[in-house]
Amino acid sequence: MNTDLIFDNTEIAFSLKSDSELERAYFLFKMISIEPLVRIGTAATNFAIKAHLPIEGLIRSTVFDHFCGGVNEEDCLTVIDNMYSKGVSSVLDYSVEGKENEKEFDAARDKVLKIIDFAKTIDAIPIAVFKPSGFGRFYLYEKISSGKALSKNEEEEWARVLDRFDIVCKKAKANDVAVLIDAEESWMQDATDALITHLMEKYNTEKPIVYNTLQMYRHDRLAFLEKEHQKAKAGNYFLGFKLVRGAYLEKENERAQEKGYESPICESKFATDQNFNNGLKYMMDNLDGMWLFAGTHNEDSSYLLMQLMEAKGLKNNDPRVWFGQLYGMSDHISFNLANKGYNVAKYVPFGPVKDVMPYLIRRAEENTSVAGQTGRELALIKKEKKRRKI
Ligand SMILES: Cc1cc2nc3c(=O)[nH]c(=O)nc-3n(C[C@H](O)[C@H](O)[C@H](O)COP(=O)(O)OP(=O)(O)OC[C@H]3O[C@@H](n4cnc5c(N)ncnc54)[C@H](O)[C@@H]3O)c2cc1C
Repeated sequence: MNTDLIFDNTEIAFSLKSDSELERAYFLFKMISIEPLVRIGTAATNFAIKAHLPIEGLIRSTVFDHFCGGVNEEDCLTVIDNMYSKGVSSVLDYSVEGKENEKEFDAARDKVLKIIDFAKTIDAIPIAVFKPSGFGRFYLYEKISSGKALSKNEEEEWARVLDRFDIVCKKAKANDVAVLIDAEESWMQDATDALITHLMEKYNTEKPIVYNTLQMYRHDRLAFLEKEHQKAKAGNYFLGFKLVRGAYLEKENERAQEKGYESPICESKFATDQNFNNGLKYMMDNLDGMWLFAGTHNEDSSYLLMQLMEAKGLKNNDPRVWFGQLYGMSDHISFNLANKGYNVAKYVPFGPVKDVMPYLIRRAEENTSVAGQTGRELALIKKEKKRRKI
């Protein structure tokens, strides 16, 4: 198989986009390519939301509709069906962030349980996802990760967090649906890792149901993967890992500098790329014991994974390997991979407009001219506009 340049096919990449949607995407990426505009826009939007100014309509018709499936899960079904008609599955992602009370944590758990029910009956939704900070206070994860003892009240609170994780994973196992658990800031991750390892031991006995996330911009993650592998072999259970580069780069480096410890982040983009690709290779060499969800918009890493699959003689749709992108980004990777029969899923974020703002701001920042990929998105949209003569 020749894997060269399949991502260049913009006709396949944008087959679901009408001419006007293509124009909107072009306008949007043009806007967020201007770094000062993103900075000012972010501050103005935060202010307007706090001041209850009526800007939801504007956000909704621009960034929100491009990067999110809707305000609730039902809203997303049209997007999900459309993508599935082209072979691209969906991971419904309840993207409300920054809530810190028990009621919200229970509500987030219930959302995920509902999605796991959806997944049982809707082929287009094979996988569920949640964020640890959606199920419990960040402070608790941080305190446990730092090795400090919890107070009695905190212990009770933590028990409720464990319960939320367990109920979700138990249901995922009963419905035979994989559940991805996102990774967040490194200073809360040790607590999450320990918890997820325990859940893998409990629920990944026949195949991977519970997936942890490895942020390969962290230079310690390959060693962590190897250690987890040894544990799983000894304990006779399967590993599931979502491999990503990592989304909190600046925050991580800033905190390390401020507090005077060595940054957990690789020294350069090149080092992160190598680490990510080595993670792919390690997992592909040990696919009998670990299944992979590669969450990336990086073309080279995606081609590498295709080549590794080919070298191992795997079918494109081998159930142990998934490619993942975010809704609103890198359709040229998702739809061209699906067109070749690979397993591909896009995270489809949803939630009330003001509650998904932290997610949207991360996407805008990641797509500025400084950090990102906008140039590529714009070039692809331009190419497709030219092909369609619009
Ligand atoms: C399906 C999916 C799920 C995701 N889930 C998570 C998650 O659970 N947790 C999470 O943190 N992120 C998650 N992400 C986001 C992801 O971590 C990246 O931020 C994003 O995908 C960009 O990386 P990339 O692999 O697409 O490639 P690229 O665009 O090639 O790489 C950009 C990334 O490289 C790294 N990088 C950039 N500059 C430097 C530098 N100077 N030094 C070191 N490293 C550098 C950063 O991680 C940056 O985000 C997810 C992404 C996808 C597609």
